[in-house]
Amino acid sequence: MKSVISDKHFHDEAAAYRWVEARVWPEGPVCPHCGGVDRISPMKGKSTRLGVYKCYQCRKPFTVKIGTIFESSHVHLRLWLQAIFLISSSKKGISANQLHRTLGVTLKTAWFMGHRIREAMRGGALTPMGGEGKVVEADETYFGDIPEEDRPQFTSTGRPVSKDPRGSPSRRKRTIVSLVERGGSVRSFHVPVAQPGSVVNVVRENIARESRLHTDESRLYIGVGKEFVAHETVNHSAEEYVRGDVTTNTVEGYFSGAMVESW
Ligand SMILES: [Zn+2]
Repeated sequence: MKSVISDKHFHDEAAAYRWVEARVWPEGPVCPHCGGVDRISPMKGKSTRLGVYKCYQCRKPFTVKIGTIFESSHVHLRLWLQAIFLISSSKKGISANQLHRTLGVTLKTAWFMGHRIREAMRGGALTPMGGEGKVVEADETYFGDIPEEDRPQFTSTGRPVSKDPRGSPSRRKRTIVSLVERGGSVRSFHVPVAQPGSVVNVVRENIARESRLHTDESRLYIGVGKEFVAHETVNHSAEEYVRGDVTTNTVEGYFSGAMVESW
């Protein structure tokens, strides 16, 4: 049996990026600035840092580190992966001093890495959005066309997918779910097609139950909406966009690249 520690992503920086990208973006890169998935290309200039992509929708560069515990850290990604391995495989925990000696980073850096990793491991990868008295909007949107050969052949209930070009966009296009905490942060997720359950999982895993959930009238949110303090909807098909402060306009603005921080 091969030693786990000999895995390439612990030693090779490009392999470390590929390893993290495959987990953060299982369906391909998602722009953290505008939520776009189309027209994204890796930047390949000689002086370009590893792992930089450019989104030609909002024209901003990004790496997979944005929105993760690796964000704004200059420590090599492969060292982060070594640190995560050491911390998660040790029953008694690892001191900053031990991390400093094993990884060869400064004590201050070791302390910072250990703090971020332990923070992320505390009950799931990310702390939930929203909370008591807070509003979180959820909305899904469809981007681009999935190539014919990659489209699902069967629905989640096992029925063959209609080949009708006017069929549901959720069968033909890539699905993005965005969550926006009003006055707070934004998270976007690329979810597999033909699996309504994956939208529900994103909502369930990322929003605190004490929050008020705002969505459109989509049937996707009816069941999971009952798990929240309140689930309020606007009826877009009846051209209702705002009722009191019930709206999904923030999340829709995010899809179109608008600023949401100033809500
Ligand atoms: Zn973008």
